[in-house]
Amino acid sequence: MQKNDQHIALALFSGGLDSLLAVKLIQDQGIKVIPVCFESPFFSCKKAIQSAKQNNLFVHIVPLEQDYLEMIQDPKYGYGKNFNPCIDCHAFMYRKLGEMMQEFNADFLISGEVLGQRPMSQHLNGMNAVAKSSGYKDLIVRPLSQKLLQDTKPIREGWIDKNLLLDLQGRTRTPQIELAEKYGIIEYPTPAGGCLLTDPGYSKRLTDLKQHNMFADRFITFLNVGRQFRLNDSTKLIIGRNQNDNEYMTVLLENNESQCNIVLKARDIPGPIGIVQSRDEIVSDIILKLAAEILVRYLSKVNDEAVVLVQFPDDEVREFKVEKRTDGFEREMLLN
Ligand code: SF4
Repeated sequence: MQKNDQHIALALFSGGLDSLLAVKLIQDQGIKVIPVCFESPFFSCKKAIQSAKQNNLFVHIVPLEQDYLEMIQDPKYGYGKNFNPCIDCHAFMYRKLGEMMQEFNADFLISGEVLGQRPMSQHLNGMNAVAKSSGYKDLIVRPLSQKLLQDTKPIREGWIDKNLLLDLQGRTRTPQIELAEKYGIIEYPTPAGGCLLTDPGYSKRLTDLKQHNMFADRFITFLNVGRQFRLNDSTKLIIGRNQNDNEYMTVLLENNESQCNIVLKARDIPGPIGIVQSRDEIVSDIILKLAAEILVRYLSKVNDEAVVLVQFPDDEVREFKVEKRTDGFEREMLLN
């Protein structure tokens, strides 16, 4: 593609106010900005799509794949309070964005990062580490704080005017809210939340997967639903807590025809469904019986015993007759 005089920036776009303002500030300089949102099992682009729509932007959605899962298991800069490797994660996204530059004929990269806004990835050392580790250090511009940061190529080359960028720092939101009013931005999502890697309970479940060599998409997909039990080194059980969980688990099962899901349900008695997941090809009867016992523990309509139907991935169904135990045996297997 022949490049004309107009410069093009790719933007890391979460849909939050900061990323929206970063786009606006650069657009104001006559630069074409292409917003990009990365999604993974841990964060979605729902907010970004909604925010882009409200602000007449078109956002490109890019799923992160296996290499992202590998990165979060062993991040160079470590984790935040939970399973969130924010420095490596930002760097990873910038790297992906950088790799997309050729396809979009783009010249540089921007994001809504604000100096000092977040403890890990947005203090000065963190931001420098993100830029360096991304491999695109000299092409990154942070419009909201760029006046406080080292000049990069887009500024040195005069593609953008640094004087029209900002010097925001810290956690206060007041300047952003004032700027939003100036731009006529009325609706935008709240800044916090949205990433499961910062959730303590979810992080505990992820840590368990990592410790048991089960850090794979087919297991992660089911990580945010139901009660989860560790049955042995290679096998887990998930039990729906309520109707919503059961429905969601059913949808997940329909969408994930993985050979690792064994489905448990009591015969003729309404109640939760259970899913046994294992990295072993064959799950022993001892483990299946244990799973059935835990399921029956959560059947309020059963007093003494029940028959549990166990459906295997090849649709074979077997029955396990188990007694209801009330001695709390399952507690030590419960992840959280
Ligand atoms: S909060 Fe989540 S998505 Fe955001 S940088 Fe940290 S790990 Fe990545």
